[in-house]
Amino acid sequence: MLPFKLVYHPGYDLNLGEHVFPARKYRLVHDHLLDEGFAGPMDFVQPDAVSDEDVLRVHESGWVQRLKTGTLTPQEILRLEIPYSKQMVEAFWLATGGTILAARQALGDRIGFNLGGGFHHAFPGHGEGFCAIHDVAVAIRALQQERKIERALVVDCDVHHGNGTAAIFAGDRSVLTLSMHQFNNYPSEKPPSVIDIHLRDGVGDEEYLDRLRAALKVAMSFAPSMIFYLAGADPYQEDQLGGLSLTMRGLKQRDQIVFETGVGLGVPVAVTLAGGYARNTEDTVSIHCNTVKAAREALVQEL
Ligand SMILES: [Zn+2]
Repeated sequence: MLPFKLVYHPGYDLNLGEHVFPARKYRLVHDHLLDEGFAGPMDFVQPDAVSDEDVLRVHESGWVQRLKTGTLTPQEILRLEIPYSKQMVEAFWLATGGTILAARQALGDRIGFNLGGGFHHAFPGHGEGFCAIHDVAVAIRALQQERKIERALVVDCDVHHGNGTAAIFAGDRSVLTLSMHQFNNYPSEKPPSVIDIHLRDGVGDEEYLDRLRAALKVAMSFAPSMIFYLAGADPYQEDQLGGLSLTMRGLKQRDQIVFETGVGLGVPVAVTLAGGYARNTEDTVSIHCNTVKAAREALVQEL
């Protein structure tokens, strides 16, 4: 039995058909962890879909309404870069419920793990870059509302800049946004995070890990009540939408650094998967599974 729960729902699949975003990866990660015996059925918990009330703490009612009623404009669908379907909308509501559940689980277990989410390109009034609803922002607002957390630190290690996160929390002193990304990549416009680490093309393990350690040191002086970790698999050297050169081993070390920082300082960590577009989807699945393994190692070492 794992020392933390894996939050997962079969409805996470965004129903995209043939698309660069392998939306079936959620199920593949779930199945892989079961098949190799790393996790058992008892390790998984299923979230409910997030309530509209929770979503509306971050998103504009018009955007929510148009998503739910299938009345997005063609421009809005283009910007989202994924085909519209009812199943897609339901998947975002489920994944967001999953990130809230993972954050609540993290309070007791020190780590809570959503095998989904990390939709950091969603803005209050529009979606883009495969992201319709900002699950992490909704979860932060929900836990603040419940007075379970005060200050949140977002550690965004997806290869793309967390533009939605930066825009949503701009000027909010209760949330420290840290984005570590390839500078020369989507999104072209990058509203400033509190800490932005703009990486050159082709940066590899050593420089990446050094800069992550240094940034976390600064960020932890903020004394967050919880870390929201976006463990994107797309800094990987074989990623189709990324231009960094991390190895699978380097990515696991990245995860270890984040988990050891949180666990070592007694700050719970809520994890979401975010992006991952490796030429071979099996690689993306392995990278995400390694994040689950790094989480377990961090807790077992502490015992
Ligand atoms: Zn990404």
